[in-house]
Amino acid sequence: MSATAPATAETVAPQPGIMEIALYEAGASHVAGHPDPVKLSSNENPWGCSPAAQAAIEAAAAAAHRYPSSDHAGLRAAIGEVHGLDPARIICGAGSDEIISWLAHAYAGPGTEVLFTEHGFLMYRIAAQTAGATPVAVRERERVTDVDALIAGATPATRLVFVANPNNPTGTMIPLAELERLARAVPQAIVALDSAYAEFAEGYDGGAEIASRLPNVVMLRTFSKIHGLGGLRVGWAYGPRAVIDVLARMRGPFNVSAPGLAAAEAAIRDTAFTERCRAETARLRDRLADALAAAGVPSDPSFANFILARFPDRETAEACDAALQADGLIVRRVAGYGLPNCLRITIGDEVACRRVAESVRRFMAGRGA
Ligand SMILES: *Cc1c(COP(=O)(O)O)cnc(C)c1O
Repeated sequence: MSATAPATAETVAPQPGIMEIALYEAGASHVAGHPDPVKLSSNENPWGCSPAAQAAIEAAAAAAHRYPSSDHAGLRAAIGEVHGLDPARIICGAGSDEIISWLAHAYAGPGTEVLFTEHGFLMYRIAAQTAGATPVAVRERERVTDVDALIAGATPATRLVFVANPNNPTGTMIPLAELERLARAVPQAIVALDSAYAEFAEGYDGGAEIASRLPNVVMLRTFSKIHGLGGLRVGWAYGPRAVIDVLARMRGPFNVSAPGLAAAEAAIRDTAFTERCRAETARLRDRLADALAAAGVPSDPSFANFILARFPDRETAEACDAALQADGLIVRRVAGYGLPNCLRITIGDEVACRRVAESVRRFMAGRGA
């Protein structure tokens, strides 16, 4: 090809920085030799979704030829009722991932910075990069979000700060007063409180009250975790009217499917199911953490539906992962999160937790721990 050949579609370059984005790797779901493995790699609800949500999905199938609601009024009203929030300050996305992306494209861009912590959710970095902004990661303190480090890491160019609380993949949590201190210290930026796991922390409002009061705080929630609807892609945000108005301009008119809207509305109203899942997850989580600790594998107190199991080194973590796989148990390696000596284990049902505890115990005993 001559140097003067006209550009064709194949040679059109994407925006600067796009090719530097590391592809997001979802939690594995297959393991050789096990046709029906236990998947504990994506923090899904082992009990599925509420039966009421299941029925709503089936009912919605009959109207699959119709476009969904564009204003999500039914779902926003249900969220407002259950959480005591103004529906006019709620916006729904195709998972909270979509809302993370809107925030980045609306508030960040070339010449601006997006701030998060070193073991933060990978989508924060990806969203910043897709918007052409500079991702900036700051230290945590022993796998706990350090608000002082975030404040020190902020510059006049910081437009967006993402904090997951409880955090993924660490499972640790910081007090609401710390989140408020952060928001007040960075008035030049939107602080996105990613509360994907808020329901697992008993009595925690996910930062809703702070988002009601402060002009630069938006709370992100999802139906993918405790509500067991990851396959349908529904999330929501609550915040100042001005921020919701910005995000509304980014939103496609039919971004959430009709089955997703119907299922989410039924799921959020089934507060008894949600509470049973929270209580059972907490019980099994604390028992699994104790069993792993007894086997020589510590973890930080987790406020979510997973445990970050800590091994002496990367080799041991990888060997334990292989042993778990051989037993048909799929957990998440988190080297990509800067935690090569750890494995993130979703809390499954009672049988799954017992199998994990036994598999790790046998592995550790086998290496003379
Ligand atoms: C799972 C998760 C989300 C959201 O997922 P969606 O399925 O896109 O709603 C957001 N943040 C964190 C930290 C998560 O772990």
